[in-house]
Amino acid sequence: VLSSSQDFDFFYLVQEWPGSHCDTEQGCCYPTTGKPASDFGIHGLWPNYNDGSYPSNCNSSNSFDASKISDLISRMQLEWPTLSCPSKDGLKFWGHEWKKHGTCAESILDQHAYFETTLKLKNKINLLHALEGAGIQPNGQMYSLESITSAIQVASGYTPRIQCNNDTSGNSQLHEISLCVDSMAADFIECPVLPNGRSCGSSVEFPSF
Ligand code: 5GP
Ligand code: 5GP
Repeated sequence: VLSSSQDFDFFYLVQEWPGSHCDTEQGCCYPTTGKPASDFGIHGLWPNYNDGSYPSNCNSSNSFDASKISDLISRMQLEWPTLSCPSKDGLKFWGHEWKKHGTCAESILDQHAYFETTLKLKNKINLLHALEGAGIQPNGQMYSLESITSAIQVASGYTPRIQCNNDTSGNSQLHEISLCVDSMAADFIECPVLPNGRSCGSSVEFPSF
């Protein structure tokens, strides 16, 4: 069987710590709907190949249509906030994620299902609770990368991909946590491919937000 350009092997569910988006030289702007909760927010649900590469922008004719997700908007404002400047309501960020990543999974998930499934998956594993349960709190302290990885493994049963960025003083800080999801977007799996990300120091800051 020939594989089509829209095939993929699994998804990354990527979540972002807002304090680490804001505590950078580029800074952040709160959404027009207000300051997000002190919690991880969704970055995206990204189709990926087992070799670490990934498809993108798969169907320009399947354009983002907010009217298809009107019932999800209030949840997305809470759980998928946009932090780029200037302040926006979120539609541009969600539209970007749909166009770049969502269209590559359209054989499995239509627009409504793409966003609804992403919300559902986020709510299956509470990353902040997992970290706090291991004494890892967003208080500006440094934690070992190993303790962060292990806290999520213990709470969820899966090994996360951790990515870091640098704060304004150049310290490595916890920026994004990704978990892997099977190709039907039904459940979490152990990641087929892990690194391929911005590396963290052995000890990373967890900034407040
Ligand atoms: P960055 O260079 O900041 O890590 O990633 C920039 C963008 O490239 C991300 O927002 C995402 O759209 C895409 N990207 C980066 N790494 C991956 C990956 O491993 N898988 C997929 N599907 N997209 C990625
Ligand atoms: P990516 O291509 O890396 O998946 O998505 C990042 C794009 O979404 C960038 O163009 C970025 O400016 C925009 N964006 C808007 N709001 C946010 C946000 O809250 N977090 C991140 N990481 N990117 C955002």
